[in-house]
Amino acid sequence: EKKIAILTSGGDAPGMNAAIRAAAKAAMAKGMKVYGVQRGYLGMLNDEIFPMDSGYVSGIIDRGGTRLLTARCLEFKDPKFRAIAAQNLKKRGIEGLVVIGGDGSYRGADLLSKEHGIKVIGIPGTIDNDIKGTDFTLGFDTCLNTILDAISKIRDTATSHERTILVEVMGRHAGDLALQACIAGGGDGLLIPEMDNPIELLAFQIKERRKQGKLHDIVLVAEGVGRVQDIEAALKEKITTEVRSVVLGHVQRGGTPSGFDRVLATRMGAKAIELLEAGEGGLMVGIENNKIITHPISYAWDGERNYDFRPDYDLALLLAK
Ligand code: ADP
Repeated sequence: EKKIAILTSGGDAPGMNAAIRAAAKAAMAKGMKVYGVQRGYLGMLNDEIFPMDSGYVSGIIDRGGTRLLTARCLEFKDPKFRAIAAQNLKKRGIEGLVVIGGDGSYRGADLLSKEHGIKVIGIPGTIDNDIKGTDFTLGFDTCLNTILDAISKIRDTATSHERTILVEVMGRHAGDLALQACIAGGGDGLLIPEMDNPIELLAFQIKERRKQGKLHDIVLVAEGVGRVQDIEAALKEKITTEVRSVVLGHVQRGGTPSGFDRVLATRMGAKAIELLEAGEGGLMVGIENNKIITHPISYAWDGERNYDFRPDYDLALLLAK
């Protein structure tokens, strides 16, 4: 009987539960024994590992967050602690591990498979969409929709008061959330780290809009660009309309996963188990051109992502006029 374990690590994202469920159910269907590891690598180190039954994953497909809990574990960067954690799996005869997390979690996963021969499969779970080797990460679509909902509400008040409102969204170093929220939310300005974002250009765009009689401006600001308060201060020097800023913050992490994220999570979770059954390890799963594919985990940090921001950025700015 093959034994495998599942953990979630790093920042949480809607869809992680759906991935846990898919992996657990697929593994059970193949006759594997499934373990859950609580609190990511921290729980692996502290031996918080338990046998999972099908009841554990029932009723969670539509729940945000992660039932397995997540944590950050700095000790995991030290080989001595990784050895202890690996031993906690090995003493139970666990040979395969599904890691659902971001690129930091992938680093740990890669080291675990290289140093200790554990077959690790990575599933990209992060709202930021910042992982190379997949067009979409779990949670991105749900988060995007949360931002769109917020934009609609912010626009109501922005219009009534004829304000310019800067909306800071998450994404760490990546501008995907801000860019796609600008396109889908009809945003009026956009600042993302992948592009030059001269404040003069933004100020000019806003003034032009106001000349056309527009009553408000919603500007999407990726957190990777810098503090929105600083941008607000700089913009206030250049325009006369009233400027406010809002940081959406942790609401972006929560909520019931979208249909897209649930389907993606399910396909990825099942693929991870297929790979473990075939004796594979050291791989990440992803979606490219609507196919579930795999890459070596280290592909995730080997060079640039293959998403070209330019066309979508130009489109967003064209329509922001
Ligand atoms: P994410 O997975 O969302 O990118 P983090 O960057 O916080 O989140 O990484 C999650 C965890 O992965 C860290 O707390 C740590 O335990 C592990 N990790 C991150 N980077 C490394 C690394 N270079 N070597 C080993 N483990 C790492």
